[in-house]
Amino acid sequence: MPRDERGYWRPDKDIGAPNPVFSWPPKPLDAAKWLKEYLWPFTLFYMIVAVLTWLYLTPEMSRMTEFRPGWMLEIFLRNQLMLIALATVLHVRMWTQKAQGYQYKWSLNWMGKSRKFLWNDQVRDNMFWSIASAGTIWTAFEVVLLWAYAKGHIPYIDPREHPVSFVLILFLAPLWYNLYFYWAHRFLHTRFMYKLVHHVHHRNIDVGPWSGVSQHPIEHVFMYASMLIHPLIGAHPLNMIFQGQFVTFGSIVGHGGFEEIVIKDGVTISSYGNYWHSLHHRFFECNYGEPTVPFDHLFGTNCDGSPEAREKMLARMRAMHGS
Ligand SMILES: [Zn+2]
Ligand SMILES: [Zn+2]
Repeated sequence: MPRDERGYWRPDKDIGAPNPVFSWPPKPLDAAKWLKEYLWPFTLFYMIVAVLTWLYLTPEMSRMTEFRPGWMLEIFLRNQLMLIALATVLHVRMWTQKAQGYQYKWSLNWMGKSRKFLWNDQVRDNMFWSIASAGTIWTAFEVVLLWAYAKGHIPYIDPREHPVSFVLILFLAPLWYNLYFYWAHRFLHTRFMYKLVHHVHHRNIDVGPWSGVSQHPIEHVFMYASMLIHPLIGAHPLNMIFQGQFVTFGSIVGHGGFEEIVIKDGVTISSYGNYWHSLHHRFFECNYGEPTVPFDHLFGTNCDGSPEAREKMLARMRAMHGS
């Protein structure tokens, strides 16, 4: 696979192109191809998990009208188990067993040992922040919102009466998160917020699945606050549950470290956005959002890893910091 002078993978396809869904004049074929890559397989998989979670792994509404430990613990455990299972499966296959070696891996490094990490160990450090903070704060948002739904404080649509609105909100949830997080992420890159909060995530230059939700608790509050759109628009609790799961699962898969996951020779599944975000971890001041929304292109913060793009980013940083 083609690599640059420091061993970082340079994909041969045009990774820096803006999302064709927002192209003008429209490019329907490109947009359809992009949509397929965006939805298949991970986003559709998350949607199925959200439906099953609502149907089989969420307590009855009548139980959730009071804050009682039983049902809150059930939600805490199911969220933690799902988080741990997804990160573990990807980590063991791609990083421990090295099932596909360096194929589609953007860096030549593996998870590191360094004094900057808790217990001097990147994986254990990342596991700690993911389980102790992300899993807990995600559950806290979900529990409070489910209580408010159960109590009747939040009116919501019935999918049987409004199937189109329900499905539309489900499909727009990933887009909403990417739109929201671009701005939250730029705020986290202000000098104050970076030093206080965001540096915890950025200690990971090389990232793996466990790095996905390895952040400071304040950053987790920002991430999971994206769930609050659902009570505001009267969406069904399932939509809110999907939003929280998308934040968690999407971040874990999005930091997997591989742009494609090789199933067998010649058969891969797309782990869309990995390479794009890896450039953010390598260069810091670019690609704040996902390629899904065109904000990086619109505001000139996009970087495709090419020498020209890196020069443009350095010039922008010099202008920002006045040196
Ligand atoms: Zn990241
Ligand atoms: Zn960042």
